[in-house]
Amino acid sequence: MCGIVGIVGNGPVADRLVDALRRLEYRGYDSAGIATLDGGAIGRLRAEGKLGNLSQKLAGAPLLGRIGIGHTRWATHGAPTEQNAHPHATERVAIVHNGIIENFRQLLENLAKDGYTPTTQTDTESVALWVTREPGSRRYA
Ligand code: GLU
Repeated sequence: MCGIVGIVGNGPVADRLVDALRRLEYRGYDSAGIATLDGGAIGRLRAEGKLGNLSQKLAGAPLLGRIGIGHTRWATHGAPTEQNAHPHATERVAIVHNGIIENFRQLLENLAKDGYTPTTQTDTESVALWVTREPGSRRYA
């Protein structure tokens, strides 16, 4: 079962997101990731396997955003790879999700008509693309 965390902080939240995910490790997971918002841009790091792998990546490429989300994944759709790990993101939105999007194939078929192509094998990415296509969707600044 996945773990989900979110933090709105006064300083960089990346380490706190990983700490919070560590507290949820008992739930079991196959990959993990975080995304933060820094100066209007989404920064994202993901890794297969244990949180230590994500921490190592973070040490080499810090994320400085003060708002962030994190996820430990228990794959239901798509292999437990870095590419399929959450958060799923476009230039406009990053999302984490627990569970199954039952109609994701229909959503992706609809999105394909407007040129939106998934880059992962997950059901979750369909929602990130759907939100991005919405006319009211805008870059957070
Ligand atoms: N269905 C989503 C996936 O396979 C979410 C899995 C979960 O709850 O961790 O990525």
